[in-house]
Amino acid sequence: MIPGPIEFEPEVMDAMCVPTPSHVAPDFIESFGHSLEMMKLVWMCPSGQPFVVAGTGTLAMDIAGSNLIEPGDCAMVISTGYFGHRFANLLRRYGANVTLLTAPVGDIVPLEEIEAALKKKKYKLMTSTHVDTSTAVMNDPKPIGVLGKKYDVLTILDGVCSVAGEEIQQEAWGIDVVLTASQKAIGVPPGLAMLVVSPKAMSVWKNRSQPVGNYYADWENWLPIMDAYLQRKPSYFGTPAVNLILALEKSLQLILKEGMEQRIERHRKVGHAFREGLKSLGLKIIPLNDGAAANTLSAPWFPENVQGSALISGILDEGVIVAGGLLPEIKTSYFRVGHMGMVGKNEVVTTLKAIETSLIKQGLRLENDACLKTALEIL
Ligand code: PMP
Repeated sequence: MIPGPIEFEPEVMDAMCVPTPSHVAPDFIESFGHSLEMMKLVWMCPSGQPFVVAGTGTLAMDIAGSNLIEPGDCAMVISTGYFGHRFANLLRRYGANVTLLTAPVGDIVPLEEIEAALKKKKYKLMTSTHVDTSTAVMNDPKPIGVLGKKYDVLTILDGVCSVAGEEIQQEAWGIDVVLTASQKAIGVPPGLAMLVVSPKAMSVWKNRSQPVGNYYADWENWLPIMDAYLQRKPSYFGTPAVNLILALEKSLQLILKEGMEQRIERHRKVGHAFREGLKSLGLKIIPLNDGAAANTLSAPWFPENVQGSALISGILDEGVIVAGGLLPEIKTSYFRVGHMGMVGKNEVVTTLKAIETSLIKQGLRLENDACLKTALEIL
């Protein structure tokens, strides 16, 4: 139950456990092209340009940053935790002049603060993290897209912990780049960096005055490859992660078979049930209000007088793996539980029960199974 890599569908694992085909084999070309087409449906961005490149979510951030930033460009980073700071460092590496708007732990940056900063100077792009996996804080990308349009600023959404788990309507909301990695709600083992890019962002890239400062990430190299797969033609720049693409095709098929609306609703329900279950165990979560709480993971504080590492190993004794803290300033004060992908009633119940048992071992007095009743009522 860690927030990625998540547990994967057996059908997805089966799809990749085959002898590795050539990257130019006709059936592989079909799988890659089909996956790119399905990405546009999952991202809800029919006119977007999809990219899938072997690498992690950080590569997806790197691809967006290196292709869209030129030295001296102004960029705004809206940070709700660890991954916002990573984006700021990354953009600086490509010569961006970065303005960092950082939310207090557990909160989001208010829209008025973002708009006030946009009024002060002209930015080329702004980034936000949909769900920051270090804090479980969720931003609403929709009004950020509106501000991007109003001030003619490109918007990049780090959707590593949200795509296929939280609602995203990239095109309708006017978000220029939505990026993710395979190992979270997309439901494929780690190793794929994935992005969908708006026509506007592609034209900003085409009109660059200087070459992209990262050879592997350069869209000049990857655009012809993605176009070729979409047109079902062979091509080569760097060898694709062939087996992972086969897994991706299967996972996207399963996601679309469930239906985007149903899938997002299931994650909402699971997230809500899990948070309410935590509350009835007396645990407080990092997000300061329910509107800023993610549905793909939860981040509860350790209760007072409970030793964090003992609580986590007690949960493990019950057969459930959770993750420790990640945000440096509070790292030892909280833990994280992922609930995305194939997660449903069984996982919620088993995990809450494991936390309850471990808390009781730590000396807390709790009403047996009260958290399960709360969660099951919602589910
Ligand atoms: N952004 C977010 C929100 C993430 O959760 C992560 C990974 N946990 C990343 C970026 C980086 O992804 P990766 O570890 O695959 O490089």
